Amino acid sequence: MAESILFLAHLEPSKGELPKIACEALHVAERSARELQCLLTVALIGADVQLVADNLAAAASRILAVTGADFAHPRYASDAAAVEALCKAANPSIVIAPATSRFLRAIPGAAARLQGRTDTHISSLAVTDGVLTARRWFYRQRLEGAIQRQVRPWFLLMDSGCSEPWSATTNAQAAKLEMIEAPLTDNLKRTRFYGLRAPARDEQTIRPDAKLLFVAGAGWTKKQSDGQVHASEAEAFIVDFLRNSGASLGSSKSLVDQTADKEAVLTFMTHLNQVGQTGSTPRHPKGLSTCCHGEEPHVVGWRFIKERRAVNIDPNCGWARGKADVLYVADAFQVLAKLNGLLREKAPAEEVTVST
Ligand SMILES: Cc1cc2nc3c(=O)[nH]c(=O)nc-3n(C[C@H](O)[C@H](O)[C@H](O)COP(=O)(O)OP(=O)(O)OC[C@H]3O[C@@H](n4cnc5c(N)ncnc54)[C@H](O)[C@@H]3O)c2cc1C
Repeated sequence: MAESILFLAHLEPSKGELPKIACEALHVAERSARELQCLLTVALIGADVQLVADNLAAAASRILAVTGADFAHPRYASDAAAVEALCKAANPSIVIAPATSRFLRAIPGAAARLQGRTDTHISSLAVTDGVLTARRWFYRQRLEGAIQRQVRPWFLLMDSGCSEPWSATTNAQAAKLEMIEAPLTDNLKRTRFYGLRAPARDEQTIRPDAKLLFVAGAGWTKKQSDGQVHASEAEAFIVDFLRNSGASLGSSKSLVDQTADKEAVLTFMTHLNQVGQTGSTPRHPKGLSTCCHGEEPHVVGWRFIKERRAVNIDPNCGWARGKADVLYVADAFQVLAKLNGLLREKAPAEEVTVST
């Protein structure tokens, strides 16, 4: 069947830019359109999208937009109405969009109104003999599913970190925007946006966009060479490192389970930080494991970490058995003290790339 692709995105309300995950989805959409030899239309939702549209002009044959203050902030009713109106105007067979929390809520509803189908958490798209296949993981990343559908329009929500972000190869040019009306009755405007409350950067330890995953293991709260536990020192080292490096914090199961066992704990650590078979499988370009043994149930959570390094005093730990690219046989307390000193010499406010 002859396909046509619509790339759908909303702007980040605070910055008026495309979120990084949207640039990644656009890269996938552009490649898919090339492989399917079909047109790519771009549709944008936001208060004012002209600047973003100018940057995208080279990528698309047509750019549509639903704009205005009513569409700046996330709200199911206005987002679903905008998606529906844009899809009716573009009439695509395939819609590719980033899996932001905003679209994960609004797109399935809009798809149902259009008698379409939605697949979420897509990690890749491939075209073989003119047929599109979407792939996603199931059952905590242990099974990969390959999905093909006959029903159109087919909405595909792309997960973050699965593709390089799209970047313009030519300078921005004045884009010709087709403005689309998405009618909103007063009833649909009952929900209002009053403000955003988010934890400060140093309170939020899970940072999906960070370049580095820093994993703390149970060794941080175990007796050290002087026969003593140094949990509060460990906590200070780790918090300092996270603040200065901008890294995302992961944990082994043993460390987060200690909270329930009333042992020495790192107070900022929760089960949400747990990486592994019964935890999460985050995606970051680099990972640094500290005081963690590197057992298989933990390391399976590192599947999408591209470059892996570990610090452990035990040269026979699990990381030494082909699970890390580099194992530093060293005391993590000493390593982090040195690393924090080096990071402090750099600009503290900006995100620092840690060259481990
Ligand atoms: C069904 C099942 C599911 C599981 N799921 C998960 C999961 O999702 N995630 C997970 O993490 N685990 C999981 N586990 C548990 C896993 O098998 C390990 O028990 C756990 O990962 C061990 O955590 P750890 O390496 O932090 O602790 P430990 O095994 O206690 O290792 C601590 C390490 O710290 C090192 N160390 C101590 N002091 C220092 C120092 N000063 N400097 C450097 N190194 C130091 C020690 O040499 C040691 O290697 C699961 C287990 C099962 C059976």
